[in-house]
Amino acid sequence: MNLEFTAEENAFREELRAFIEANYPPALRAKQNARKSLTREDYLAWHKVLARQGWVAPSWPKEYGGTDWTPTQRYIWSEELARADCLPLLPFGLVMLGPVLWTFGSEAQKQRFLPEIYKGETWWCQGYSEPGAGSDLAGLSTRAERVKGDDGQEYYLVNGQKTWTTLAQYADWGFFLVRTDPTAKPQAGISFLLIDMKSPGVTVRPIVTLDGGHEVNDVFLDNVKVPVENRVFHENQGWTLAKSLLVHERSGIAGVARSKRNLEKLRQIARTEPSDAGGSLIGDPFFRRKLAELEIDLTALEYTELRTLADEASGKGPGPESSILKIKGTEIQQRLQELALEAVGHYGAPFLRDGGGNLTVGPDYAVGVAGDYFNGRKTSIYGGSNEIQRNIIAKVVLGL
Ligand SMILES: Cc1cc2nc3c(=O)[nH]c(=O)nc-3n(C[C@H](O)[C@H](O)[C@H](O)COP(=O)(O)OP(=O)(O)OC[C@H]3O[C@@H](n4cnc5c(N)ncnc54)[C@H](O)[C@@H]3O)c2cc1C
Repeated sequence: MNLEFTAEENAFREELRAFIEANYPPALRAKQNARKSLTREDYLAWHKVLARQGWVAPSWPKEYGGTDWTPTQRYIWSEELARADCLPLLPFGLVMLGPVLWTFGSEAQKQRFLPEIYKGETWWCQGYSEPGAGSDLAGLSTRAERVKGDDGQEYYLVNGQKTWTTLAQYADWGFFLVRTDPTAKPQAGISFLLIDMKSPGVTVRPIVTLDGGHEVNDVFLDNVKVPVENRVFHENQGWTLAKSLLVHERSGIAGVARSKRNLEKLRQIARTEPSDAGGSLIGDPFFRRKLAELEIDLTALEYTELRTLADEASGKGPGPESSILKIKGTEIQQRLQELALEAVGHYGAPFLRDGGGNLTVGPDYAVGVAGDYFNGRKTSIYGGSNEIQRNIIAKVVLGL
């Protein structure tokens, strides 16, 4: 899509591009190129560079470090990050918890946690899902009982299990939904707690996924003591925060700029890979048709995202329309991964990492394609499954 930009916007783009080129951590770039597993420090390296520059959270309010960029500038920023294949920033603090804290948190919580999130000093994880509560999140049963200690201080005693907790193995803190009133209606008895992951009684156990990676975990909470001041907002009113956070989470999942970049990479692969009918894959009418359909859908999604950004600029936060962005964005991501796998053919087969992440079979561009395909199945499940998003659209957007 060719949008018209002003001379100032083009200069802004040049400034961002030059900054990324000069400041992106070379060691991180090398690891990404070799598809090596990333450490905690790797994940945070780029975050810290951006925090020092003041660009790590463009959408945050100015008083907490936001940039005051226009929607167009933010759009240009996301394009430049994707164009340079920068590692996506972790969303747990920046996208999910940040807005909840500045909207619902106490002054002490804002002052303590927002700067740490901004600077990349604390790593947060999301403790929502449980073995018996995913789509039906309000059915969660992790219990937080309010008790008084020998020292006279009140705290919550938390017991239960969370699951699918992304990157909890690195987390310093987690934001958890817990049941504080088991007698109330499901949504009415939930509270939102901030839990120090080093507290006695917290156990993190890995779940290894289809691509061989360790990205998700079970988290067990066994008599974990949580100070009452770590509850955000009122007791039993956590559901309001839970929903608000999910809207932010979903709008961040669409990933339009990244998909545009991946479409470009896919075209490159198709120019190189041979077609069964002779010539290169890009000349194959069936493959070309699939590429064209993807590009059309992606362009349509891009316009939808731009409309959302414009709404945000006029003071409207993301609403239930974020469900549309989530469904279309993740469907496009998965179609891109499927087509890439189709394009590399049998070179995609040896997808498991060999410890260090290096695979030497086939062309460089085939490395990781199958791993990405398998890993990418998650996108239509997490952040609330796409079926659930369709229910939300039916009810809240269409009023059915
Ligand atoms: C890779 C990954 C990372 C994740 N990270 C986190 C995390 O960090 N923190 C966290 O809290 N959670 C996380 N999740 C959990 C995620 O939010 C849940 O998996 C998701 O909400 C679905 O819940 P479930 O897995 O229990 O499936 P279920 O709710 O059991 O659903 C099973 C199937 O039934 C369908 N279904 C269920 N109810 C309905 C309905 N009413 N109408 C139509 N279809 C329905 C679903 O769409 C799905 O296809 C992650 C999940 C994955 C896969």
